[in-house]
Amino acid sequence: MTTAFDSPSFDGHETVSYASCPETGLRAIIAIHSTALGPAAGGCRMRAYASTDDALTDVLRLSRGMTYKNAIAELPLGGGKSVVIGNPATDKSDAFLESLGDAVERLGGAYWIAEDMGIGPEDMEKVARRTRYVAGLKSGKAASGDPSPVTAEGIFRGIRIAVKHKLERPGVKGLTVAIQGIGHVGYALARLLHEAGASLIVTDVNEIALKKAEREFSARVVAPEEIYDAPADIFAPCAAGAVLNPDTIPRLKVPVVAGAANNQLDTPESEMLLKQRGILYAPDYVINGGGIINVAAEIAGRYDPVWVQARLDRLMETLDGVFAEAARLDLPAGEVADRIARARIDAAKLRKAG
Ligand code: NAD
Repeated sequence: MTTAFDSPSFDGHETVSYASCPETGLRAIIAIHSTALGPAAGGCRMRAYASTDDALTDVLRLSRGMTYKNAIAELPLGGGKSVVIGNPATDKSDAFLESLGDAVERLGGAYWIAEDMGIGPEDMEKVARRTRYVAGLKSGKAASGDPSPVTAEGIFRGIRIAVKHKLERPGVKGLTVAIQGIGHVGYALARLLHEAGASLIVTDVNEIALKKAEREFSARVVAPEEIYDAPADIFAPCAAGAVLNPDTIPRLKVPVVAGAANNQLDTPESEMLLKQRGILYAPDYVINGGGIINVAAEIAGRYDPVWVQARLDRLMETLDGVFAEAARLDLPAGEVADRIARARIDAAKLRKAG
């Protein structure tokens, strides 16, 4: 088994802790990548990982991504993430989730937990019985609820910005968007795009979600593997990570890739493959920051929708600036975004060092 230090995904993470509870069967890894900008915040993902190494790789990559996501969104938060090893459909019980809360509480506020794939707002209510360092709650003083609608709004607005840069069009009317994954974010995004006059091609592994999209948005349904070959104006990955890789990128028939999924690129090098093919890629952690902005409002102790909208507006301005700078310097947009995020993190470290 690999240790965090030996993992190729290790990036100077501040803390990697393994949490277990023999009574409830909990096995989790919590990774804090950086607290330079504030306490680490990031969702909790539950999956039946094939191995502990896979879970470790996931949590190391995701927590690093959160540092960059929070920095680019100008939030007073660092980057962290947790993964729970198990089947979300069968392995969760109240006691199991409470023991996850205990694990978060033991970190004393260095990490704030929220939902991610496999963990929903109702699970967070149970985690919150044991720790106050929880966000994404449905009820309570500052509850922010499901972040997906705000994430979807950011993706929709980000797609319009990408389209302006790449296709010189003012909106999505008359364009075709291929959406991979009609889940919480994908469905809300599909609605916004449909209402704005875009045509949709959709795929999912969930037949019910597909039928709904077909019925409500007149979407054309394709098989999961076919989405990469679908001719469209925009490809919006809204399901799993690592879907942009040397196998899929040569197949894409789109000028723009912009979607919600975290870690869409299998490796940073894959963005260069997209660029070589003339495809504009919206860096995932920039365009999908709406959800963490929503969560940050709750962590701040008072949910203020006006503050959320103002932060989302700023993030969209940043995305616009990233595309402009990338074009000016002939660089991948992800590299430009990374430079901005790193500069903010480094400045915070210097301030802390006095
Ligand atoms: P979700 O679980 O609600 O939806 C994911 C959808 O993808 C499901 O309908 C699932 O059936 C489908 N799917 C799974 N495997 C697939 C495959 N091989 N091909 C096609 N479809 C497949 O998750 P979500 O909350 O909508 O999040 C989607 C992505 O966006 C995730 O990567 C998540 O980490 C990221 N994200 C979500 C938020 C948020 O606010 N929810 C914020 C930022 C990033």
